[in-house]
Amino acid sequence: MSTLRKFLEKCNIDAEIAYDEPMARHTSFRIGGPADALVRPRTAEAAAALLAAARDDGVPVAAIGGGANLLVADSGVRGIVLSTDLLRGLGRGGDGSLYAEAGLPVVELVRHAILDGRAGLEFAAGLPGSVGGAVYMNARCYDREFADALVGVDYLDPRTLGPATAAVDRGAWAYKRTPFMPGGALSGALILGARFGLAAGDRAALEARAAELEADRATKGHFDYPCAGSVFKNDRSFGRPTGRILDELGFRGRRVGDAMVSPKHANIFVNAGRASAADMRALIAMAIAEARAAFGVELEPEVVMLGDF
Ligand SMILES: Cc1cc2nc3c(=O)[nH]c(=O)nc-3n(C[C@H](O)[C@H](O)[C@H](O)COP(=O)(O)OP(=O)(O)OC[C@H]3O[C@@H](n4cnc5c(N)ncnc54)[C@H](O)[C@@H]3O)c2cc1C
Repeated sequence: MSTLRKFLEKCNIDAEIAYDEPMARHTSFRIGGPADALVRPRTAEAAAALLAAARDDGVPVAAIGGGANLLVADSGVRGIVLSTDLLRGLGRGGDGSLYAEAGLPVVELVRHAILDGRAGLEFAAGLPGSVGGAVYMNARCYDREFADALVGVDYLDPRTLGPATAAVDRGAWAYKRTPFMPGGALSGALILGARFGLAAGDRAALEARAAELEADRATKGHFDYPCAGSVFKNDRSFGRPTGRILDELGFRGRRVGDAMVSPKHANIFVNAGRASAADMRALIAMAIAEARAAFGVELEPEVVMLGDF
């Protein structure tokens, strides 16, 4: 029996566990080699117990949500991938706020808010991924971002591994930047759930807006191929969106193997068949190098790389 299997049996936590699990099954790119173990805790307490035991035994753990912003290496991930997939609770506050556990898909959060006639989350209609991932990334679309609606975030403190709550200090949240990212005050914390402050809204109007945005995503080709949304961040100092820069370089349709730049949007790279992570990484590196050479700009990937590249 492998050491990792023994470790997880010793932990005996309330979780679903799969060994040598292909990460291609858990990423929207449909790319990625096996995780030694994919662990899906059924409760926040089980997640905390797993992290504490892993720390004691020196077992590496990487957290994922919906896998909609991840490029996982072809060689996979050593140690444990902790997925929040089974933490999907949803609660309503008397003040009209909504509380969602980290693993709840954003589309379900948005649907519940709209059904309740609460406004403030409809901008995220059709956004792939989980609540935890959207909080971690401060996901942004249609001129709004998650931090606009967030009131507080529950997480496991990275030092004590005990539960804690952070009020959302807007100063620490910016475009695609949150305290949970490397370098932030809460880097390494596992997000357990988030509370959203929402205003009363007209349900029919909210439904219409959500349908409009979902249709816009479909028109832009978001769901034509497996992808992870925009590959690079935008940067105001470039004077134009990254997609425009890549258009000027003729990137639409560019390929490395089956990794391809979307024919509809130059900042969306897709898996056109059997793309490997190495193909996708090479296409990303090509875009960075050409943008640097032509315009002197440094494109910064938004997609998170996991595993050994
Ligand atoms: C078709 C398509 C369209 C998209 N459009 C947009 C868009 O308009 N705007 C936008 O911002 N993004 C967009 N994305 C990207 C993606 O939807 C977002 O980045 C999303 O928020 C990722 O959430 P996730 O749960 O899938 O995170 P994952 O991809 O699983 O993880 C992303 C990062 O978050 C961390 N993380 C996840 N959960 C937790 C947790 N509970 N605690 C601590 N860390 C955690 C992971 O460690 C990783 O670093 C799009 C993706 C696709 C496939």
